This record gives sequence, C-alpha cells and structure tokens, in this order.
Amino acid sequence: MARYTESVCKQCRRAQEKLFLKGDRCYSAKCPLSPNHKKNITPGQHGKPAGAKMSDYGTQLREKQKVKQAYGIMEKQFHHYYEMAMVKRGVTGETLLQYLERRLDNVVYRLGFASSRKEARQLVTHSHFTVNGKKVNIPSYLTKAGDEIAVKSKSRKSPKFVTLAETAAGKTIPSYLSLDVEKMTGKVVNLPSRADIDLPIDERLIVELYSK
Ligand code: SF4
Repeated sequence: MARYTESVCKQCRRAQEKLFLKGDRCYSAKCPLSPNHKKNITPGQHGKPAGAKMSDYGTQLREKQKVKQAYGIMEKQFHHYYEMAMVKRGVTGETLLQYLERRLDNVVYRLGFASSRKEARQLVTHSHFTVNGKKVNIPSYLTKAGDEIAVKSKSRKSPKFVTLAETAAGKTIPSYLSLDVEKMTGKVVNLPSRADIDLPIDERLIVELYSK
C-alpha cells in the first residue's frame, strides 16, 4: 500500500502550516513551525522563509497536498472523494472535507482515542474498534450520523488505551461527536459541518485546481 515516507514535519514545513501529524509534539516548542525555530523554513537546500510568494498554481497545489497529508490520503483516493463530492448536491469543497472528516480513522482521532490521525489509522487497522458493535478495521470506513464507535472490550484494559482515555477526557471534541470516556465509546451525533473542521484549509483552491 502506498504511503508517505518523508518526515511528517517536512510535510508541515512545505505547507507552512501546522498539520498536527505528530501528536503531542505538535503542541510543544519542539515543533519546527514554532516561532523562531531554526527549521521554520520550507525544506530543501534552498528553503524559503515563511510567507514567501507562490504562483496561483503553486498555492492551489500546496493546498491540496496539505489536506491529503493532514488526513494521510494518497492522490487516487483523494481524487475519488472529490468525484463523490462533485456529484453530490451542495458546495463541492465542503462536501469533500465532510467525506474526509467522516473517515473512521479521523473520527477515532477526533474523539481523542489516538494522538494523531496516523496513530488512529494504525489502531483501526489493528482491530481495536467496533462500529455499532461490529469489528471494523478499515480506516476509510465512512461513518454516518448515529454510528457508535467503541474501543473493543479486549483492548480497553491495555495500558495504551487507559492512557489514551485519560488524555481524551481533557480534550475538546467537535460538536458533531459525543464521547463517553468511562465506557470508551463515542457517537457521531450528526454529519460534520464546515465549522467542525479546524484545519487551516481553503478548499476552494482545491476545487479550482481540479477544475482546470
Ligand atoms: Fe511536526 Fe507536528 Fe509541528 Fe507538523 S505540527 S511540524 S508534524 S511537530
């Protein structure tokens, strides 16, 4: 299976935005995108400082790459979401983001059961979660309103999930989800709206890019 192999921090440095790919480190001064950090430039021998000018195409492409990397999705699958969004009634860019936000790995991350989307993807693949009582180990599974996501009973007592549940308790979750930390379950109350997506994304640029 294809996957991103370069350092995740490089992906943020290229996008010049925090994509929160590395768990707790992203919130610390160790993040290369922290003010005054010596690596706060685009990667490569001729790294450009933050705010350097780009062409329109470069800006659109960067926006698409940013979203793909934030959600850990490769081009083919991302384009598939775009095609699904195109045929659905509504604003294409927002529908595209809604599809990404509904992915099971993202929901697990947003509920606080993983410190990053990458970790959430791994935990889902390793069958630690159920949806409506049934084991689901497909990170791209599209959740829907009313779905109940739970840590599998066998996994609940593992030190990993005990720690994750403790940190989940202190996290703010988006309004489209509800969480019961004691039972280690979460619910998709309704479909995510644009306001629920907290990444700095201008989805119109992605639609412009694909419309060329
Ligand atoms: Fe690295 Fe996280 Fe900072 Fe991105 S936000 S540069 S992944 S530490």
